[in-house]
Amino acid sequence: MPIWEPQEECMSRDELQQLQLERLQATLNRVYRNVSFYRRRFKEMDFRPEDDLTDLRDIRRLPFTTARDVSDSYPYEMFAVPLREVVRVHSSSGVMVNPRVVGYTRQDLKVWSNLVARILSAAGVTQDDVIQVTFGYGLLTGGLGIHYGAERIGASVLPTSVGRTERQIKIMQDFRTTVLVSTPSYALVIADKVEAVGMDPKRLSLRYCICAGEPWTESMRKEIEERLFVKATDNYGISEVMGPGVAGECLEQQGMHLQEDHFLAEIIDPETGQVLEPGREGELVITTLAKEAFPVIRYRTGDLCSIHPDPCPCGRTFHRLGRIRGRSDDVVVIKGINVIPQRIGDILEEIKGERPVYQLAATRRGHQDQLEIRVEVTDQLFYDKMRDQKTLVDVMRRKVTNFIGITPRIKLVERGSLERVGGVVRLFVDRREQASGTEDQDG
Ligand SMILES: [Zn+2]
Repeated sequence: MPIWEPQEECMSRDELQQLQLERLQATLNRVYRNVSFYRRRFKEMDFRPEDDLTDLRDIRRLPFTTARDVSDSYPYEMFAVPLREVVRVHSSSGVMVNPRVVGYTRQDLKVWSNLVARILSAAGVTQDDVIQVTFGYGLLTGGLGIHYGAERIGASVLPTSVGRTERQIKIMQDFRTTVLVSTPSYALVIADKVEAVGMDPKRLSLRYCICAGEPWTESMRKEIEERLFVKATDNYGISEVMGPGVAGECLEQQGMHLQEDHFLAEIIDPETGQVLEPGREGELVITTLAKEAFPVIRYRTGDLCSIHPDPCPCGRTFHRLGRIRGRSDDVVVIKGINVIPQRIGDILEEIKGERPVYQLAATRRGHQDQLEIRVEVTDQLFYDKMRDQKTLVDVMRRKVTNFIGITPRIKLVERGSLERVGGVVRLFVDRREQASGTEDQDG
């Protein structure tokens, strides 16, 4: 599969770091001059971009920018160019608080479509493809972001936008769609609908599914691939940073290449803000390196993942983001250890290749926090034989202990018995404030 911009995507790490440093310097200078929010903050810490940034690590001296900061700057306070130079505006959906508004210059749009072209190429898309975009076309960045990147490649774009699944699959069949762009859960809704109307998915022309927009799992990928006869890739984007095109998987399907010539990424401990070593899991923080209208410095994405520096067989030298594991707001602290409830599901899923329905509960005995994992019994996961059940529970306990360093109590519960909100099981319940010492015995 051709690489869209081999000179950039395969540059040496030395070359890349030099470029990142130059671009970071230019970005910090620009926000210092043009954005009062950053100028005020830099002055408070006596940070002068032209003197105080000599190494990429110097950025760690600067404070984080949060979603709240962007909301508070509603609508245009954080723009680094006058509005007459802005040719497009996007915005997050916001009801209770001000939405987060971002802008793009003509040059920003050019870069954006190019970066999306890179990730689409990496995922198999060429000018021969017919690409159906089921993301919303509106103030959110998903639809238009993918759209212009696909046009840049020269693919034929079907801007079907969200919903009306029956119409989507009719278009998919009649227009001979080869690439579906969708959230992973909507790809499965489409698979259900294809089956429900008695259509044979093998007779569709689909080859690839570009997934983005929500955390998903390997088993969902497998299901999408098997039911729609496609190769599915994982992609990452966030409006405050740009939109789709920030990072995307190549056909190796081993993590999403981050467009490092345009984005400087750090992984931090969401509790302490400390920068973590490569490979560790934490909150993704991004600094834009070439955005004109809306640069962000150390933006806390709230997304939990890790960065992997090992080389990829595809030849691209950009480091890869691991799967997004959830939101940092979802992190719960048990016995002083950060636990991500979704991550526990990943571990349990690895054991039998099936994600069980489960719930974490923090309880307290005396002054000691306890972690309990309640797992609903299913035919596939648990056999009738007591001994097999016990073996599986032991494996689960050991795997989770190895991963998080806390030994949980695994409790098997009846199917359908876990508390559901809107049909979805709450992954975490905190019972530590309730009376202690009344918990029943191991299941
Ligand atoms: Zn690769």
